[in-house]
This record gives sequence, C-alpha cells and structure tokens, in this order.
Amino acid sequence: MLHANQSIKENTLPLMEAFYTIQGEGYHQGRAAYFIRLGGCDVGCVWCDVKESWDQSKHPRVPVEEIAAQAATYPGRLAVITGGEPLMHNLESLCSALHEQGFTINIETSGAYPLSGSIDWVCLSPKKFNNKKPVDSIYEQANELKVVIAHRGDLKWAETNAQRVHPDCKLYLQPEWEASPAMLPLVIAYVKEHPQWEISLQAHKFMNIP
Ligand code: SF4
Repeated sequence: MLHANQSIKENTLPLMEAFYTIQGEGYHQGRAAYFIRLGGCDVGCVWCDVKESWDQSKHPRVPVEEIAAQAATYPGRLAVITGGEPLMHNLESLCSALHEQGFTINIETSGAYPLSGSIDWVCLSPKKFNNKKPVDSIYEQANELKVVIAHRGDLKWAETNAQRVHPDCKLYLQPEWEASPAMLPLVIAYVKEHPQWEISLQAHKFMNIP
C-alpha cells in the first residue's frame, strides 16, 4: 500500500541537485551514473551528510521530463535516484521519463516508505529509528542491503536486516565516514569472519568527487 505522500503521481519533484559522476558505493561502485537528489527526508539520521535535503520546500519542483532530458545529455545510462528519502514521493512519472530516455534506474532508500515507480535496482540502507524503520514490503524488493556502521552495535542491526532480505540480496557494510578510523578495522575483521558481507567504502570521497 502506498503512503499518503505517494499515492498521487507526481509530474514535478523537488530537485535539490543532479549531477553526473561515479557511483562511489555498493554494488555499482565505479560506474558512471547520473545522480538525482530529491528534497525531503523525515528520517533524521544524526550523521546525515545532506541535511540541506530534509526540507523539500527549499528545493524547486522540476518537471520529470526536464530531469530526464537533462540526464540524457550525458553519455551514461545509469540513473541513481537518491535524497533525502526519495520514496517520500511517488516516482512513477520520473521512472517512466527516465526509462523513455533509455536509463537503468537505481534507487538509494532508507526503506521508510514503500517503493513506487518502476525501479531496476533497489539499494536499501535501513535506519534504526523506531518510527522510520523500513516497511516490510521493501525487504523482498531489495537487491542490495547497505548498512552504515557508525557504532559497534550497528553490526547487530545489520544482521537483523540481513535476515529479512531475499537470499540473492547483496550485503554491504559501510563504515560511516567520520567514524571510519575506528569503524574500518572493526568492519574488516567482521567481514573476514562473516564473508557473506562485503565492504562498501565511499570511494567518491577518496576521489574527491560528488
Ligand atoms: Fe540523511 Fe538519508 Fe538519513 Fe535522510 S535517510 S537523514 S537523507 S542519511
């Protein structure tokens, strides 16, 4: 069932920024991709590095065809919809417009809202907050589970989520950037003991690109 925010097709969406870069995280790390960052998030992660995205009213609503046409001016045909929490919006129209331009569509989501639109690859990055935990339906739909590790206790949260995803879902642990000096050794040791997991580093930050 769609959340109230998502039930109506949205032909314009609050666009915080869009840029062509290299995907730095997870399964598609290293691939050229057009990032579409939508405004709006009510999840409230303390370590969020895009807090400017939270208030969607601060970002202009742009027609989805315009977003897709701008994306298509670059040679790559991988689009990553991110935020904010992009699933606060109904993404059907945006996905149609991107598919018409020949894009494969990935999404980065906390899973706090149900999926909308025809998405080709779902990266679920669940957050622990009580009222913002992922909705049940998203676990089956996730192609990739990416858990940010900011504290030792997050490893338990990672395992709790891993029990709920599809057996083919890829599993990633990603040290939180600021906590990385302490968390990276922990994550390395953990993955060596639990090889079903892989490490995701924010490679774009090492490359100094967005
Ligand atoms: Fe920031 Fe993403 Fe957390 Fe929202 S879900 S607060 S955008 S890290």
